[in-house]
Amino acid sequence: MKIPLHFNGNRYYSYATYMQKKYGERIQKVTVDAGFTCPNRDGLVARGGCTYCNNESFNPGYNSAAKSITQQIEQGIAFLSKRYAANKYIVYFQPYSNTYAALDRLKRLYEEALSHPQVCGLTIGTRPDCIDEKKIEYLARLAGEYDITVEYGLESIDDETLRKINRGHDYQTYLDAVELTADKGINICTHIILGFPWESEEFWLKEASVLSKIKTDFLKIHQLHIVKDTVMARQYAQKPFSLLSYEKYISIVVSFLERFNPDIIIQRLFGEAPPHVLIAPNWNKRNPEMLQGIQAELERRDTWQGKLY
Ligand code: SF4
Repeated sequence: MKIPLHFNGNRYYSYATYMQKKYGERIQKVTVDAGFTCPNRDGLVARGGCTYCNNESFNPGYNSAAKSITQQIEQGIAFLSKRYAANKYIVYFQPYSNTYAALDRLKRLYEEALSHPQVCGLTIGTRPDCIDEKKIEYLARLAGEYDITVEYGLESIDDETLRKINRGHDYQTYLDAVELTADKGINICTHIILGFPWESEEFWLKEASVLSKIKTDFLKIHQLHIVKDTVMARQYAQKPFSLLSYEKYISIVVSFLERFNPDIIIQRLFGEAPPHVLIAPNWNKRNPEMLQGIQAELERRDTWQGKLY
């Protein structure tokens, strides 16, 4: 058994590899805050939001809903172009639920982003209960011309976990959203979190097998972070619970990858919360070190994405 050729020398199918092959050049994501909210916060589904959620933990400094989409793209490109040599960008509608508005408003925002000469597509982060046929039909039309991805926050395939973290939707809602989105030229990305203290390694490995069969093009994995100003932060302060160590997380991610479909592209294997909002776990590792740790473990075990799939 050999490492698949389409990994291009890596031990997993990375988004960078996939995009390089698709475009022949580096494509960078530029994040915007379009001023959305979330039905899990405004009372439509629930109030208070998911117990771990603090949108400040993933909003870069140049983003502000007070600025237009074009201004944010310009400022984002100015910032990113100092670090990365990219000419083309995917606009990432990231904070909150970016399909949670009337279609007219969505059209205005998405089309403003797509009108920028350096933008070749959109990634739209949302909840699986914030999509409907009309929105998907519209996105499918855009996907005929641009690179369009809908990113669904799933977090866990376990309904009990979804209830405990106050997601306000169940696993079936995610499956329905994927069914509605699939086979229309729109890319699907699925976001999960590993590390809820009541879940287990055995469960995450089963999750890898279950998600391998879903029509998702991309997967993003994030370790559970306890960040300030969240319900989980209060729960943790009242009664600290066990969180994964760095070594354990690396080991679980590698075991997860081994069992995961080698044709699904990995967009992310961990996240980084700004130090001023992170409470725990504090591994004191930056992104390059995290990545190195995962690569070293893949090599040490002489394994790769899908080896046990
Ligand atoms: S994680 Fe997403 S769905 Fe949950 S409260 Fe935050 S913005 Fe809403």
